[in-house]
Amino acid sequence: NEASIPPPISPGDWLGMIGGGQLGRMYCHAAQSLGYKVAVLDPDPQSPAGAVADLHIRAAYDDQAGLKQLSERCKAITTEFENVPAQSLETLASASLVRPGAQAVAVVQDRIREKAFIKNIGVPVAPYAAIHTPQDIDAAAEGLFPGILKAARLGYDGKGQARVKTREEARQALESFGGVACVLEALLPLASELSVVMARGADGQAVFYPSARNEHRDGILAVSTVDARSPDQAIAVQAANAALAIAEGLEYVGVLCVEFFVLQDGRLIANEIAPRPHNSGHYTMNASVSSQFEQQVRVTAGLPLGGTASLCSVVMLNILGDVWFDDATGLKREPDWPAVLAVPGAKLHLYGKSEARRGRKMGHVNVLGATVADAVGAASRVAHALG
Ligand code: ADP
Ligand code: MG
Repeated sequence: NEASIPPPISPGDWLGMIGGGQLGRMYCHAAQSLGYKVAVLDPDPQSPAGAVADLHIRAAYDDQAGLKQLSERCKAITTEFENVPAQSLETLASASLVRPGAQAVAVVQDRIREKAFIKNIGVPVAPYAAIHTPQDIDAAAEGLFPGILKAARLGYDGKGQARVKTREEARQALESFGGVACVLEALLPLASELSVVMARGADGQAVFYPSARNEHRDGILAVSTVDARSPDQAIAVQAANAALAIAEGLEYVGVLCVEFFVLQDGRLIANEIAPRPHNSGHYTMNASVSSQFEQQVRVTAGLPLGGTASLCSVVMLNILGDVWFDDATGLKREPDWPAVLAVPGAKLHLYGKSEARRGRKMGHVNVLGATVADAVGAASRVAHALG
């Protein structure tokens, strides 16, 4: 009820962030431009967010002294990292507002609970089975092959996943994961992938960004495209409604993203939930009234939600560590940033990571255009400049 909603936290005050990756860094930038100070909890002395935070608490995510320091400093705390121990969020919640809450994050960080939850809400998911033992693989339905075995916890960017054609391959994959709990899901015939980034406030109000169309390479997001002019297609409306049902079911307060598959027969399937801003929402930093990070600041602080309308069309290109390696020689080189920045409409974001490794997310470029065709054309010039 309204009476139990705490008053907003004003600019000038401190907000807390658990996790020091690029999402935390972009949160810091957004919070600081609204006049807040940010304390980041992350053990890594080189973390991208720690480098720009007003205070970097270098401690593990379950370090009691670090958590205490964070909650003494900050009235409200959020996270950029779904694998934060739910227990830590619980601990923080005794002294500070924690958005999203431990309950929601606990569901989302475990693929078995996540899939069961989404299915229970009435949103379709891929056919799957929870796998705890090799016997569960023997008992899995024939329809789950060919499939994908995904570790229930700690996977990202296609890591902790194996495509398996047969039960034998699934047993081998389970063993190679060290026998951890997994989900085995059917490999689906995808026509496309899309995602919905949304925010839901403590009062239950929700806002949605236009859904991005996503292209993945090797299990990692490569390109997201948003056409500012095309009216919401039926499938995007269906996805937004499904995301809202999920957010309400989780009593979610914060920014979240739901990834979807569109199957070749047109059906919409929910893939996974991220309890935080999402790579596919990075386009909002330049092409929307409020970025997803500003939105996360607003929700954390209990402010009114920001506008989500598109200002223009946009293609977001991820920059992976691979572009630091010369194709011909395999040797390291610096990408040609001036060539990227020479493309009209290109907005470059680099995360300040010290070491470029293949498959590592180092930054992204939002390429803006008045029409989606303009943005796509300019994006191909940026891709060329990146080599
Ligand atoms: P991550 O946590 O690494 O993002 P996802 O479950 O989202 O893991 O899988 C990464 C990508 O792999 C998806 O975006 C999609 O391209 C592909 N993928 C995952 N599950 C399936 C599936 N059941 N059928 C077909 N493709 C899939
Ligand atoms: Mg994913």
